[in-house]
Amino acid sequence: MNSQTQYDKRYSFEFFPPKTDAGVEKLKRVQQELAAKSPSFFSVTYGAGGSTRDRTFQTVTQVKQNTGISTAPHLSCVGDSKSQLGEILQQYVSNGIERIVALRGDLPSGMGASIGELKYASDLVAFIREQTGDHFHLEVAAYPEMHPQAKSMNADLDAFRAKVEAGANSAITQYFFNIDAYKFFVDSCEKRGLDIPVVPGIMPIINYENLVRFSQMCGAEIPRWIRVRMESYSGDPTSVLQFGEEVITSLCQSLLEMGAPGLHFYTMNQSAPTLAIWDNLDPG
Ligand code: FAD
Repeated sequence: MNSQTQYDKRYSFEFFPPKTDAGVEKLKRVQQELAAKSPSFFSVTYGAGGSTRDRTFQTVTQVKQNTGISTAPHLSCVGDSKSQLGEILQQYVSNGIERIVALRGDLPSGMGASIGELKYASDLVAFIREQTGDHFHLEVAAYPEMHPQAKSMNADLDAFRAKVEAGANSAITQYFFNIDAYKFFVDSCEKRGLDIPVVPGIMPIINYENLVRFSQMCGAEIPRWIRVRMESYSGDPTSVLQFGEEVITSLCQSLLEMGAPGLHFYTMNQSAPTLAIWDNLDPG
């Protein structure tokens, strides 16, 4: 983990583009509350296949203007053509955007088998470098517990290497609760000479049922001791929130102490759960 300590700690907050006017107004409040913590950047997700193309762009420009803080769009390649991706990149260059989270994406069911011209995130990173040189700081995804479709952990590490070699500057992990998985992932990267910061993705626990559902899809393991405690709080959302806050605060503290280069919070467009953890950590 030593090479991780050379980077300054960086903190970032992720949003999704709201669908309704009420959601837009709520996000304006949430972004102001989180902007007060002076994060390194905000990021805004992108619906694979372009389902949020306009809303992601509008949200990114609105957050950046409203807060004055660097804001990074996510961009996925599955289901989008090269010419569509090229147009989006030019739009971001023209609007002063300097960081992108580059992903393969998952096509929502019902969108057919249309894969697009670029198959993997490493192809998208190479395409962005080809089109825009070093203009963007490129973030990519990392999976301490292995991407669910990967053939093996080694194959997934090879896929991660391909993204780094194509020009990624840093990575954000899928969320996890098992700190050893992160430690082993970072150690494996170091052994392979992959020396980019790997920032843990942090999922505040807001609703246990949703967390279980989402964890099954994305391959994040919820340890038995957390499940047992959470299930004993069935029908008691206050205890779920309280215990979730303690568990995630402790995870963040351990990660920072072991030399993680920062934290990226999946806020789910809510400020309170992330701010509760932030205030417990008191990183500044
Ligand atoms: P890749 O790195 O391309 O990997 C996908 C799979 O292909 C892996 O199993 C990998 O091992 C395998 N693979 C890669 N290259 C090769 C190769 N050359 N040969 C064989 N196999 C290969 N999704 C969205 O739709 N929108 C978002 O905004 C979004 N934001 C995210 C943010 C973060 C921080 C993270 C961690 C995930 C996010 N996702 C998002 C989810 C992501 O799109 C999915 O996890 C997706 O399934 C994989 O994307 P990737 O960029 O990791 O793909």
